[in-house]
Amino acid sequence: MPITLLGAAEIRALAASLDVTPTKKLGQNFVHDANTVRRIVQIADVHADDHVVEIGPGLGSLTLAVLETGARVTAVEIDHRLAARLAQTAAAHGVPDGRLSVIDADAMKVDALPGDPTVLVANLPYNVSVPVLLHFLETFPHLQRGVVMVQAEVGERLAASPGSKVYGSPSAKAGWYGRWRLAGSVSRQVFWPVPNVDSVLVAFERHAQVRADEQLRRRTFAVIDAAFGQRRKMLRQALSGVLGGSAAAAAEVLEGAGVDPTARGEQLSIDDYRRIAQAL
Ligand code: SAM
Repeated sequence: MPITLLGAAEIRALAASLDVTPTKKLGQNFVHDANTVRRIVQIADVHADDHVVEIGPGLGSLTLAVLETGARVTAVEIDHRLAARLAQTAAAHGVPDGRLSVIDADAMKVDALPGDPTVLVANLPYNVSVPVLLHFLETFPHLQRGVVMVQAEVGERLAASPGSKVYGSPSAKAGWYGRWRLAGSVSRQVFWPVPNVDSVLVAFERHAQVRADEQLRRRTFAVIDAAFGQRRKMLRQALSGVLGGSAAAAAEVLEGAGVDPTARGEQLSIDDYRRIAQAL
């Protein structure tokens, strides 16, 4: 039996039967367009031998599109009613037993994923999109690549290069883990309810080299937070608190790391930030 996707009417009927009224608090905007979910799966290059983790499967629109490829899915959903129904929806849409595991939990608190999925696919809840992404990349080093749907401004930030207007702390931190690129925009009309923000797809690929030094990561992220906490100031001032307690001490560390002390945070790449943390 081929796997079938969820249609708009079925999504509303499912929500009604579960007594689910989509909430902003949980970023619940469900996709009811087959082309959109198939497009996400295609960009993520999901194949039958992949094990995919999905954050926030909701009623299962994107989940079924991933399962349609033959891949396995582990889905993490915070809303108990949605988590409890997903397996039944999958079975009713032709998904064979054993291909879907559901974890009923807050993705921010998940610290183990059975079977070590290597691909992340998600229409992320907008209010926690960046923290949840960074949490997953940090906690699950076997995640190699993925595609996520996020609010347009957030996607542009994640994919921004140093020097761009929107380059900020999420851009630099995301760069620690991998390479990011914008992979297209998504119409508001594919969601129920229709959100009041635009959405984009962002694809990432984890860096090939292993960066398992947790202490260095923490130090680097603290430098990034300080630099963007006062982004208009020159680095020797913005970083004085974390680099020795004075602008002069900070300038010395920055010069040691090969970074101009009069530069500003938005000009530095993740490699610059790492060198500063190493020079500390
Ligand atoms: N994937 C579905 C789709 O595309 O139709 C739903 C996407 S909706 C934008 C976000 C989903 O994430 C909702 O199902 C919501 O309940 C869930 N969610 C919100 N916060 C979460 C969290 N912290 N952990 C896990 N799931 C969460």
